[in-house]
Amino acid sequence: MTKKPSKTEMSRVCVQCGARCCRYIATEIDTPTCKKDYDHIRWYLMHGNIHVFVDHEGDWCLEVESSCEHLAPDGSCTNYSNRPKICRQYGADHQTCEYLAEDAPYEFRFSTADEYEAWLDKKKVKWRWKK
Ligand code: SF4
Ligand code: SF4
Repeated sequence: MTKKPSKTEMSRVCVQCGARCCRYIATEIDTPTCKKDYDHIRWYLMHGNIHVFVDHEGDWCLEVESSCEHLAPDGSCTNYSNRPKICRQYGADHQTCEYLAEDAPYEFRFSTADEYEAWLDKKKVKWRWKK
């Protein structure tokens, strides 16, 4: 088992990483099960800076690329003492940190509606509306 990095090591690693976890938000969404759901995800993905991914637990998540307003140009946090709990917890266990974890943070991820539609087609999901 890999040794968990100390807080000091973690801040050094975070600088090397470029603070990637401060550059987006992600929130869980319902697992798509019907045409309306498939269409909603297509709609999300037709917008810039939006991704949809499925994590290792099979949960579907919407990811919005957007840097935190407290992220300084050098990668440090200007609101460190008042940062949200999710920021405090993330990276505390290096298996939850996307930079240090051995596996990708998701099972699969879509960045465009085309990618998602191709995935639905491959799975033979009927997502198209009748003309
Ligand atoms: S992804 Fe990991 S290494 Fe990068 S800033 Fe976040 S906690 Fe630090
Ligand atoms: S509050 Fe600080 S640690 Fe949290 S996302 Fe913003 S810059 Fe990163």
